Amino acid sequence: MTSAADLAALDAEVSECRRCPRLVAWRERVAVEKRAAFRDQTYWGRPVPGFGAADARILILGLAPAAHGGNRTGRMFTGDRSGDVLYAALHRAGLANQAEAVAADDGLRLAYTRITASVRCAPPENKPTPQERDACAPFLRREVALLRPTLRVVVALGAFAWSNWWPALDAVYGIAPRPRPAFGHGVVWQGGGPALLGSYHVSQQNTFTGRLTPAMLDDVFVEARRLAGVGGA
Ligand code: SF4
Repeated sequence: MTSAADLAALDAEVSECRRCPRLVAWRERVAVEKRAAFRDQTYWGRPVPGFGAADARILILGLAPAAHGGNRTGRMFTGDRSGDVLYAALHRAGLANQAEAVAADDGLRLAYTRITASVRCAPPENKPTPQERDACAPFLRREVALLRPTLRVVVALGAFAWSNWWPALDAVYGIAPRPRPAFGHGVVWQGGGPALLGSYHVSQQNTFTGRLTPAMLDDVFVEARRLAGVGGA
């Protein structure tokens, strides 16, 4: 079986998971109650698998799907404000064929890049519990193991993703730095395995306040391309 087929099988398994009772109840409740603006749509209401190239050199690691974004459309960062910012930046960086991400069938394709999350189900208030984080961690480990032949850099969106990278690095590459390097925007760690590049999360809280600007995000993806050995955009 090819790596792409293995990834597709993993994605299918992820989308059927019901391991966390609180998150299963929440994602399904949101899918029934809906937001008024989307009341005519059928929500995905399930775990959201990774999205992008099977031979990705760059893995973007987020926190969890948004209740009315990924949990609605079934694709990472699709249909919410965070995704609007992220995909526009990926398009400017030459890593996405279009700037808009509105639905799973909108024609969006990523180059060299895959996007995934530490927790695959939308959590209440975007806050998974430590138990839910740990329950979902094997999916990230398996995804990274499948991407290992091509993976060169992980872009951690926010401190939560940054901290969730270390167990995956240990499990897949057998590397466990002590102490763990601290998260920071623009921080690069290269201690074996893929490079780790920190970025503030593309949340509205950061982008509306100017803590994370489009120019800062452009710098992140220029650096990600450099670390991944992908030529200029
Ligand atoms: S958060 Fe992860 S482990 Fe928990 S139900 Fe969703 S997919 Fe399964």
